[in-house]
Amino acid sequence: MDLFMKIREHEQVVFCNDEATGLQAIIAIHSTKLGPALGGCRMYPYKSVDEALEDVLRLSKGMTYKCAVSDVDFGGGKAVIIGDPTKDKSPELFRAFGQFVESLNGRFYTGTDMGTTTDDFVHALKETNCIVGVDEAYGGSGDSSVPTAQGVIYGLQATNKVLWGTDDLSGRSYSIQGLGKVGYKVAERLLEEGADLFVTDINQQAIDMLVAKAKKLGAGIKVVSTDEIYSADADIFIPCAMGGIINDKTIDQLRVKAIVGSANNQLLEMKHGQLLQERGILYAPDYIVNAGGLIQVADELYTPNKERVLRQTKAIYNSLLNVYQYSTEQGITTVEAANQFCEQRIKARTQRNSFFSHNKRPKWAVRT
Ligand code: NAD
Repeated sequence: MDLFMKIREHEQVVFCNDEATGLQAIIAIHSTKLGPALGGCRMYPYKSVDEALEDVLRLSKGMTYKCAVSDVDFGGGKAVIIGDPTKDKSPELFRAFGQFVESLNGRFYTGTDMGTTTDDFVHALKETNCIVGVDEAYGGSGDSSVPTAQGVIYGLQATNKVLWGTDDLSGRSYSIQGLGKVGYKVAERLLEEGADLFVTDINQQAIDMLVAKAKKLGAGIKVVSTDEIYSADADIFIPCAMGGIINDKTIDQLRVKAIVGSANNQLLEMKHGQLLQERGILYAPDYIVNAGGLIQVADELYTPNKERVLRQTKAIYNSLLNVYQYSTEQGITTVEAANQFCEQRIKARTQRNSFFSHNKRPKWAVRT
């Protein structure tokens, strides 16, 4: 497909090259209809510019939906740096990247994603204020996995409400894939609520810590292999590791009644949403469930406030209930329902207000 066809849906795509630092990056702004574009910056050793472009176009569009459903005044954007995060990083490279972000004059805000850390953006922050998810030591909001995990809990409560008529998390069993920053916090909370868990991780230390905690609480926990997690006899599957895990190989193994997790892009393809529905498995769209982190970074420019973030994260509960209901009414998958819900919200917002100037930074921004 020719380049112009590929980028047709996007407002702006910027190719950034800096010979001195070796920076090769692409910034894609999908939409600024709801506000300046917001999205993390991923660093990955893409095999070609084409592969990097595909990734940034897809991810930036996803951010438009995620921002819309989270009701934050941002649009969708994303950046990718072509390079190996273990070898190609330097302070100068991130300063050069910061200069490109600054050149967009507030149309794009970015921060960490796969392959980048808050330390990298300390350098970019010297060139631009359009950085979010900044370390607390630099006046940012810090670890976003706290609201993300809380969002998963709200997602589970909404799902339990639909399946069993109650928000109560206890007395049910959950299978958790990945006990990292998000998964571990979700697991701890579920154990405290009196739930039974099946867990897996490739990190034995995380497993040992959780098992010790379960023992202390007298709660039920079963450690299974990374393959066995798909067929665990649990009520709800909670993917909190990598994407693409609902695919042709795993879908027939699932015995759960629902999937509610933080991992990004859980469905390998859209058709897997349809296949889950046909199997009677309720799927909570990942970009709704894991929006807590986005809510925190979007909120950061007001000056960080953890309580306000958690209050806003609570909206995940009602958003999911609305999406479940709309999907049933329309006879469409929950992902289609969520996407339509976002498109309607963007349409309603753009029809209501034509005074917003995309070139202006948000009025509330403190780092201007
Ligand atoms: P993390 O890196 O802290 O945790 C991931 C965990 O998964 C690790 O403990 C890792 O050992 C484990 N893991 C890796 N491969 C595995 C496998 N094959 N089987 C089982 N476990 C495996 O990441 P995180 O911050 O907890 O995020 C988890 C997921 O949620 C990711 O997909 C991330 O993109 C998404 N997410 C996170 C946030 C956030 O605020 N941290 C926000 C939105 C989405």
